[in-house]
Amino acid sequence: MLAERIDVKRDNNMPHFRYMIPKKIFDRITALCKDSKSGSISWGQMYAERKESFAVVTNFEVNEVLSENEGHERPHSWMKLKKTKIKTTRKLKEEQGYDIVWEFHTHPSGSSELHEIDLKILNYLSVGVMVIVTEKDVVGWYYDKRSTKKPIIEKMIFEVYESP
Ligand SMILES: [Zn+2]
Repeated sequence: MLAERIDVKRDNNMPHFRYMIPKKIFDRITALCKDSKSGSISWGQMYAERKESFAVVTNFEVNEVLSENEGHERPHSWMKLKKTKIKTTRKLKEEQGYDIVWEFHTHPSGSSELHEIDLKILNYLSVGVMVIVTEKDVVGWYYDKRSTKKPIIEKMIFEVYESP
């Protein structure tokens, strides 16, 4: 039903995979930036489901522990960061049954570009997606340097749609 409805609006010139986010979730997640009085960064997980050539965001969760004290500081341990990320993602997929799990964090500054530290993290991970949330946008960055000298970096635009 959902995919059908989105299909109507589909642009034939865009055969690529598309990323959709319901307006209700978009409003809640972007509000994290508005609510951040101190300008502090919120980190968390964003969940999505694959439906044909679409990935539809179903929910998100803020990781309170990390958000309190993590900004764009250089990670204390790169290895620990990678291990934690792999472990958390696997657990969420296997135990909670999530289809797609992306890490996201807010940029209360308003920039949807990757911060220097964000790039360093992706570079360390070799491949992955980092979702940046600003007051106005939800943008994903796909990074892959496994088979090329220069990393492949693709911007994932999340399209907002009205859900019932
Ligand atoms: Zn960042």
